[in-house]
Amino acid sequence: MPLFQNAQFFTTVNHLKDLPHTQAEIAFVGRSNAGKSSAINTLTNHVRLAYVSKTPGRTQHINYFELRNGHFLADLPGYGYAQVPEDVRAHWVRLLGQYLQTRQSLIGLILIMDTRHPLKDLDKQMLDFFAITGHPVHILLSKADKLSKNDQIKTLSSVKKALKPYMERQTVSVQLFSSLKKQGIEEVETVVQGWFDA
Ligand code: GDP
Repeated sequence: MPLFQNAQFFTTVNHLKDLPHTQAEIAFVGRSNAGKSSAINTLTNHVRLAYVSKTPGRTQHINYFELRNGHFLADLPGYGYAQVPEDVRAHWVRLLGQYLQTRQSLIGLILIMDTRHPLKDLDKQMLDFFAITGHPVHILLSKADKLSKNDQIKTLSSVKKALKPYMERQTVSVQLFSSLKKQGIEEVETVVQGWFDA
């Protein structure tokens, strides 16, 4: 059975102090509207396990999904949503940083970036936060279907080039992904399975 396919909703938490006890977890992060909820739904084969929002960035809680016994997926709040007041946004970026740097059971990070707008400042900040843990990051260039095959390949290659400095200090991998076309599912599964098996 593929890793994500029998994912079950587990719990929602609003404060870091309420995080559940988990043996191992991976986290999904990304800018609001990057396609994170869609990616989770596509990977888990659910229509709305993670809520695809019409007003992104409003929800600031962490949703947990159980993948296998003791293995969880944490869906973190999207960052960078323009219509949230600056102080609220800054607060959430700080909390995300705290989670990424202190969560003991967190073994790897999936960072979702819109293929058309990769590596924004806040994405780089997430990479910086997580670098100190020494754990791997896997980047999904989402909504790949919005680009021609040719432009997808070009973007992938330019993002890889831009990530070189990051790759020197932590394991960073990157792939194309499309929820609409169900593109790249096996590639993510293989990477994450590897993390859990390590
Ligand atoms: P989130 O805020 O990161 O959770 O993003 P959502 O999953 O809610 O998606 C934001 C918007 O992008 C929605 O309108 C989705 O329908 C759209 N979207 C997400 N994934 C894809 C994709 O693979 N292809 C296309 N064309 N649109 C997508």
